[in-house]
Amino acid sequence: MDIQTTTKTELVDITARVRALVKASGIKDGICVITTPHTTCGIIINENERGLRADILGFLEALVPENKKYVHNSIDSNAEAHLRAVLLGNSETISIEDEHLVLGTWQSIFFVELDGPRNRIVNVKLIKA
Ligand code: ZN
Repeated sequence: MDIQTTTKTELVDITARVRALVKASGIKDGICVITTPHTTCGIIINENERGLRADILGFLEALVPENKKYVHNSIDSNAEAHLRAVLLGNSETISIEDEHLVLGTWQSIFFVELDGPRNRIVNVKLIKA
């Protein structure tokens, strides 16, 4: 799926789009693997609450400040985005049972933009068990 992000850093809830792909697949039991082929964004599962979304971005900023001297910034200007992406990882794997993603009540799937705005790609692979 394509994602157009609109700011430098943001969390985009892709749960409904992934659920639609699972439903369209007709798979009753299986595995859903979500990956993104970029090096300055991440895929995570957490709660979609506005304050928490801000806290997650603030947490990443605190751990990996933007205005530090990074070696990568001598050839590019986005080292902090790469480093934050390292912390998040670029994939999630979710079981499919009874035609539904196995997610907790408060769990949502997020694409995390760390160097936007950009056009991004998320790949969803559905495997029948
Ligand atoms: Zn770079």
